[in-house]
Amino acid sequence: MALVVQKYGGTSMGSVERIRNVAKRVAKTYDAGNDMVVVVSAMSGETNKLVALANEVSEFPDSREYDVLVAAGEQVSIALLAMCLKAMGYKAKSYLGFQIPIITDSAYSKARIEEISDEKMRADLKDGTILIVAGFQGVDSQGSITTLGRGGSDTSAVAMAAALKADVCEIYTDVDGVYTTDPNLCKDARKIERISYEEMLELASLGAKVLQIRSVEFAKKYNVDVHVRSSFNENLGTMVTKEDNEMEAVLVSGIAYAKDEVKIAVMQVPDKPGIAAQILSPLSDANISVDMIVQNVSEAGFTDFTFTVPMADFKKALAITKETAESIAAKEVLTDENISKVSIVGLGMRSHAGVATTMFKTLAAEGINIQMISTSEIKISVVVDAKYTELAVRVLHDAFGLSGK
Ligand code: ADP
Ligand code: ASP
Ligand code: MG
Repeated sequence: MALVVQKYGGTSMGSVERIRNVAKRVAKTYDAGNDMVVVVSAMSGETNKLVALANEVSEFPDSREYDVLVAAGEQVSIALLAMCLKAMGYKAKSYLGFQIPIITDSAYSKARIEEISDEKMRADLKDGTILIVAGFQGVDSQGSITTLGRGGSDTSAVAMAAALKADVCEIYTDVDGVYTTDPNLCKDARKIERISYEEMLELASLGAKVLQIRSVEFAKKYNVDVHVRSSFNENLGTMVTKEDNEMEAVLVSGIAYAKDEVKIAVMQVPDKPGIAAQILSPLSDANISVDMIVQNVSEAGFTDFTFTVPMADFKKALAITKETAESIAAKEVLTDENISKVSIVGLGMRSHAGVATTMFKTLAAEGINIQMISTSEIKISVVVDAKYTELAVRVLHDAFGLSGK
């Protein structure tokens, strides 16, 4: 007998029909003699609707109330799944985050899980109850509802598996596993059988939304093997696990893209020590993370300072940056929402020169201009015009020999 944690995403829970399908899958694993904790997301589209409502009510929705609102989608789906299972004759019980409790910090809309109490869950499991837990949400030390960032149910599931020392952690989604790039964008994408935490961390942080980045951080920290697979078939998916010698020895293992960043440029900044900190500190104080940064070579004592922030923080970041720009006597602040970040990721890049050259030449051959670049040991990211996203992903996928063909 094993303890199995399964997570079902929004598409898998997208209709009553699909929730019934999930209930059947859960029942099958339970009938095989396993203890089960099932984490679910809101039905697809529901969280987006709630976010849109918040933005209709206010330009800067109150952060505490925002989390109360967006956490609501999961309350619906846990109840529906528990009802289905009960109607099928199983013992099942739904739980919201605060009822477990899943304790987080108070960083609303991007809270971090600090502790999960397993007491109630153990008691339920002992009497054969299937636990249905709301993903994406928790509660802070004040008792306020918090959410973990978009896609956060993945993190709820992996954290739950770590807390319960589960034997199996399965993330059921609408694709067969982790692919060399988004299979919905590139039909030549190939399923990866096993991928290291390090590579998956990069892919997730660079836009591959198949797993939320924090879920991979948790998995790595607590050594949880995560099996990403489809809720629509029985195929084996992808194992996200510790790096080992049996992993494919490839230079580049995947291509990711993100369209949810915005470029902000502070033009004609007086070029003197401390300027970067002056521009960026107010943003970090507001809990806005800055991603790519470029500072031009200075001309006549002035420079341009450009960076990207998440689209979700755009309005706030712009307001803050305009204020800073005025205080440091910069000429103006320009923005560009039509950008996209395309990245190549691979452990093999650690020991190979020339990967960047191949990437840049491939893009140049298609006439794609590179606006910003950033690199680490195992990834290279470029910012390009958003209209080239698909083309860039496809040609890079080909250039690095990733196609399934
Ligand atoms: P869920 O609702 O189950 O959490 P998501 O929509 O969050 O599902 O994540 C699954 C989606 O991730 C897929 O439909 C696919 O379009 C996208 N995706 C992006 N990059 C990849 C990749 N490298 N491998 C697999 N899926 C990817
Ligand atoms: N329902 C949440 C979202 O749409 C959490 C998740 O799906 O993982 O972001
Ligand atoms: Mg998701």
